[in-house]
Amino acid sequence: MESLKNKPHVVVLGGNFAGLGSAQKIRQYAKEAVDITVVDRKDFLLFVPNIPADVFENRDPALHQRMELRAVLADDDIKFIQADVQGIDVEAKSIDILPTERPGAAKQTLRYDYLVVALGNRLAFDEIEGFAEFGDSVTDLYLGEKLRQKLHFGGYKGGPIAIGSARFSQGDGAVGLAPYPGGSIPMALAACEGPPVELMMAAATYLKETQQGDPSKITVFTPAELIAEDAGVTVVNQLLGLATKMGFNYLNNTQNIKRLTADGIEFTDGRSVAAELKIVFPNWKAHPFMRGLPISDSEGFVITDLLMRNPKYPTVFAAGDAAAVTMPKLGAIGHQECEIVGRQIAKDVGMMSAEHADQPLQPIVYCLGDMGGGKAFYIRSNTWFGGDTAVLKMGHVPYMLKMQYRTLFMQLKGKVPGWGLNLAEMAVEHHLPS
Ligand SMILES: Cc1cc2nc3c(=O)[nH]c(=O)nc-3n(C[C@H](O)[C@H](O)[C@H](O)COP(=O)(O)OP(=O)(O)OC[C@H]3O[C@@H](n4cnc5c(N)ncnc54)[C@H](O)[C@@H]3O)c2cc1C
Repeated sequence: MESLKNKPHVVVLGGNFAGLGSAQKIRQYAKEAVDITVVDRKDFLLFVPNIPADVFENRDPALHQRMELRAVLADDDIKFIQADVQGIDVEAKSIDILPTERPGAAKQTLRYDYLVVALGNRLAFDEIEGFAEFGDSVTDLYLGEKLRQKLHFGGYKGGPIAIGSARFSQGDGAVGLAPYPGGSIPMALAACEGPPVELMMAAATYLKETQQGDPSKITVFTPAELIAEDAGVTVVNQLLGLATKMGFNYLNNTQNIKRLTADGIEFTDGRSVAAELKIVFPNWKAHPFMRGLPISDSEGFVITDLLMRNPKYPTVFAAGDAAAVTMPKLGAIGHQECEIVGRQIAKDVGMMSAEHADQPLQPIVYCLGDMGGGKAFYIRSNTWFGGDTAVLKMGHVPYMLKMQYRTLFMQLKGKVPGWGLNLAEMAVEHHLPS
């Protein structure tokens, strides 16, 4: 499948936030100088961050959190192939794909001049003993709908609830990078703890609204010393202070989830917690075929510099959760990376100057978490990486923004302008007390 027009062919693997965002930014900056193909095994974008709100507010997430990809990409003359990526050969600059529209497809090979790996991660629920029988989560449409049915149609009997993460195995791919002077991309024991914090707040509101109890029924746990440590110590201490006042139970340093049982969760540190509902987040692992590649780190995440480029194979880029540098695994950081990938490829094909293109990643944790009852929390922080910003706000304005960000994203077909985040900052930070 070579380009007929003989332009450099950019292949983007993955069509969710980082894949769609990268493809659109490449088209915006490199204009018609490149052919672009996106490959994903499904042909829609899944708006993962809003699944929890649907679950607690009793809406089927499958009906709200999907955006069809083909027409959106066609608007920008970006080709789409619905296929499973099965292998990458960086020496031959080729990808093995298996079309997934119908069973029985024959394997194909796709060649690239530039490659963007935006395949996210594999959420390893299958490595948690007892999850299939006793566990719940909100990371996809199936699990979200299963939990919604339990919460709103009589499955849940009002017992204790435990919410937290399994241990994350971060690779060594971002060691030595300094996004802020004197800073680093630290090693973390959990991949992304915004969702557990969001869920504990939303679950408390759900218990109150359904008159089934208060936060003392909920235990939130973390494998780390401090939950959501990537939001920075100041923000987390504020959140924990509030959570303690509200009556939540908190378990830290659990090391890992050993198993789920009908009665609760057992941790590898020997402790356990009783729970009827066990809402867990697994290890975010790289896809098996990413392990051992010359572009991958010790765990299979793609090694890049702060311009999202692989140092050994400079025509290979990564964005979003698949990149080693993306810590925590947060869509908002992926969003920042898409911009960089678009500029770098535009520079390579002569469509942008180095001065405009070479703006390295300075990650900022942005998080808008649903708290139930029409409220949300808003975090903007970079202290974990060595920066000096740490903002936490709570109330109705962040909730409105969370919902409106999704609407804006769908209406603008993923092209949320850079000012989208700044607008959120302005609206939240200037109109709400701390
Ligand atoms: C419950 C929850 C709430 C969250 N809330 C927030 C939030 O409020 N803010 C925020 O910034 N982030 C949030 N996140 C994190 C955010 O969802 C992720 O960081 C984001 O989805 C990562 O985007 P991505 O495109 O890199 O990867 P993904 O969204 O995982 O997309 C990867 C894509 O690659 C495709 N793919 C994977 N493997 C293959 C293969 N072998 N072949 C073909 N296609 C493949 C998949 O189908 C998918 O479309 C949340 C996460 C969860 C679970």
